[in-house]
Amino acid sequence: MNFFPGSMRGGALHPVFSEQSIPLRSRRNTLVAPPVYAQDEGRGWQETVGPASVPSAWLRAVPLCHVAGRCAARLPSSKARFRGYLCPLTGPGSGLFLVQDCIKPVKVDKRPGSGVAKIHIEDDGSYFQVTQDGGTRRLEKAKVSLNDCLACSGCVTSAETVLITQQSHEELRKALDANKMAAPRQQKLVVVSVSPQSRASLAARLQLSPTDTARKLTAFFKTLGVHFVFDTAFSRNFSLLESQREFVRRFRGQADSTQALPMLASACPGWICYAEKTHGSFIIPHISTARSPQQVMGALVKDFLAQQQHLTPDKIYHVTVMPCYDKKLEASRPDFFNQEHQTRDVDCVLTTGEVFKLLEEEGVSLSELEPAPLDSLPSGVSAEEPTSHRGGGSGGYLEHVFRHAARELFGIHVAEVTYRPLRNKDFQEVTLEQGGQVLLRFAAAYGLRNIQSLVQKLKRGRCPYHYVEVMACPAGCLNGGGQLKAPDTPGRELLQQVERLYGLVRTEVPEDAPGVRELYGRWLQGEASERAGRLLHTQYHAVEKASSGLSIRW
Ligand code: SF4
Repeated sequence: MNFFPGSMRGGALHPVFSEQSIPLRSRRNTLVAPPVYAQDEGRGWQETVGPASVPSAWLRAVPLCHVAGRCAARLPSSKARFRGYLCPLTGPGSGLFLVQDCIKPVKVDKRPGSGVAKIHIEDDGSYFQVTQDGGTRRLEKAKVSLNDCLACSGCVTSAETVLITQQSHEELRKALDANKMAAPRQQKLVVVSVSPQSRASLAARLQLSPTDTARKLTAFFKTLGVHFVFDTAFSRNFSLLESQREFVRRFRGQADSTQALPMLASACPGWICYAEKTHGSFIIPHISTARSPQQVMGALVKDFLAQQQHLTPDKIYHVTVMPCYDKKLEASRPDFFNQEHQTRDVDCVLTTGEVFKLLEEEGVSLSELEPAPLDSLPSGVSAEEPTSHRGGGSGGYLEHVFRHAARELFGIHVAEVTYRPLRNKDFQEVTLEQGGQVLLRFAAAYGLRNIQSLVQKLKRGRCPYHYVEVMACPAGCLNGGGQLKAPDTPGRELLQQVERLYGLVRTEVPEDAPGVRELYGRWLQGEASERAGRLLHTQYHAVEKASSGLSIRW
């Protein structure tokens, strides 16, 4: 029994860099054509015939990279010829996170005397084992489940195609089909929670208003067999409120802990994954423990709704519709797994693009569907139209925390929050001043390049901020990697349309949102209760850096 390191992505084979293939004198920055490993059904991972056939197959083996556009890596021009290998989809200036190797060992059951097989890669990317008598046999593609990811720091920032196999619209369809076939007592309650960002993206693509999109999407899911369709803007109320309170607590306690401030936002799993893998225990104490809207919705559905419906959490199948793939990884974190009932708070995450694909595959034109009334989690609260929050397409964390802190800590009412762009439009600052003195200094840092700059400031002890809204995607969640692209509309123009539609939705103040106070009392047993801490907060885990010779850093 041997173990091979393998890099496995997208349910497809992915090449690895062999240590031997990288010359010692320049191992850190030189690649030579590496061998490729392929999985033989009976014999595990085997080296292929050689690197000569690598490039075209390799390019096809690399999965779609949702990091597109937000990767901070810049390749020196001398490495230009390797760019295609690193990130064929995003082009120059990206790819660092793609090239990191997965260090998860792959078990190989060797058969005595079987020797090393040759594996041939066809132009279409399929792999064939070449037997000694010259016969060929197609090899199965390796499948890697979400749980195979060790979050080892060896691969990309977060979720990628390999992590998506278990969470796709196919899975939702399977769950719905299984539900229809099951005996009534075995059927599950199916719930879909749609993010406001996904709704805006669909609205832009289908040229509908956000309200129409929400109602028609509700109708569509219900025709598929879904029982409830909720809006994650409701769960975001809790996420914002918990973030506000946590900030005030930290600000008041800053004399006792050097790590209390700056407090860094926690709603973006792309950022969290990067922080855990790259800066671990240094950065984690700064990250707010408030759950993201998706995971608060997970608690609402699997705890509150389950109680209301007299069901155990495992009798609910909960799907979310989100603007990025990173949310799939977030949903799969062990922190959101209910050991007692062996179920996740969110069972399946679909990106906006996957919902669009589902519509196409079902042959449904959303525009032609009759709208359906929106569902509401708290009883007695009508949800005639979707709602949102002030402060931009990433949830408005900076604005809500800022206003609340100004009021609570300094008794100042902030009517308008004014942003001052710093390095670029994705790095902005907001200050609260009184008598020439800065009382609060907040920032929004979007995109990995700005995040790296923020972390460097922190490491050098030169971070002037009390709070930073950190988001991995440039331009934030409305520009997430799972959002819809339009073939005929340039990306920037499309983003502007999505932002405009997102901004059309009526905003609410979380403190006053209907049903929120009621749930703090009835469901959570008070604002600062143990239940609120457990169901609305989470924790993070530093990931040990892999000290593997296979890790290539540019
Ligand atoms: Fe997802 Fe938003 Fe983070 Fe992008 S910024 S990775 S869309 S949560």
